[in-house]
Amino acid sequence: MKSWSDGFGGWRWMPRRALPWLLAIALLMASTNTAVARSRQHIPTRATSQTSTGLSAVDKANLLHNMRMGCLGGRPSPLGQVIRLGSNVNAGYAAPDEVALTFDDGPTPYSTPPILDYLEQTHTPATFFVMGQYVAQWPALLRREWRDGFAIGVHTWNHPNMTVLSYGAAQAQFVNTVNAIDDALGGKPCIWFWRPPYMDQNAQVIAHAAALGLTTIDWDDDSRDWSRPGAQAIADTVLSEVHPGAIIILHDGPAARQQTLAALPLILAGLRARGLTPVTVPQLLMDGHFAGVRLPSGPGATLAQVPALVRVAH
Ligand SMILES: [Zn+2]
Repeated sequence: MKSWSDGFGGWRWMPRRALPWLLAIALLMASTNTAVARSRQHIPTRATSQTSTGLSAVDKANLLHNMRMGCLGGRPSPLGQVIRLGSNVNAGYAAPDEVALTFDDGPTPYSTPPILDYLEQTHTPATFFVMGQYVAQWPALLRREWRDGFAIGVHTWNHPNMTVLSYGAAQAQFVNTVNAIDDALGGKPCIWFWRPPYMDQNAQVIAHAAALGLTTIDWDDDSRDWSRPGAQAIADTVLSEVHPGAIIILHDGPAARQQTLAALPLILAGLRARGLTPVTVPQLLMDGHFAGVRLPSGPGATLAQVPALVRVAH
């Protein structure tokens, strides 16, 4: 039987000293309630097998990753606004010296594995906005992303312009993708944000997503890597637009992304030179003091320490 510590084998960014804290917190949550399970109530999910303790091994593993997703104590309440960057300037907080690298349109075997290899070799956190049709086709790739500690968001089933769809068609784009993610990961993964393809959104689409528990995450630093202008040009574009709190869009997915991969060392070097640290989207939003993703006060100071504890090591 695998122990919980085995489950950390893929968490390649985690400082070992943080593990006992995370385990203690997860056990506390498991023993007190199933807040994470309740957090999934907005989107229909499929039944999963459970042990007599009420939590399967997959559930326990997901509980730990769910905390990294900002879901300690339950899924953050969906925000009815679009988030373009990780700085909540309205709250009067300075932007964190952090950025979020995000990769859209995967997972596919063509470009995702080498990008994951590089991110893991360099201990670089990132967020993947995934498409349901590819998750269903290559679920093992999504499991790798999740179990290796990356954050996951929804990027619809097959990349339509959401604003032109009927309610029912839009509903299918959301729900089928979340169900594909649930099926791939098992248990109760906390998936609580999505990104509209082409940034095509309106109040109706944003409200629809929020009704399903999904906060809308855009970007404010566009690499334009899809146009394949060369690795140096991709990096130059990212670094010309970057700032504390930036959400940077890159792409994996089915198209050729060798230039994106080749740009990553240049981007990381530029971020380092500017004193900016890559984090996941939920981490960035937590550190940016977004009310919707502020961790709950919980049963004590231990829980309040989680944001710092889950910060990845560099
Ligand atoms: Zn896309």
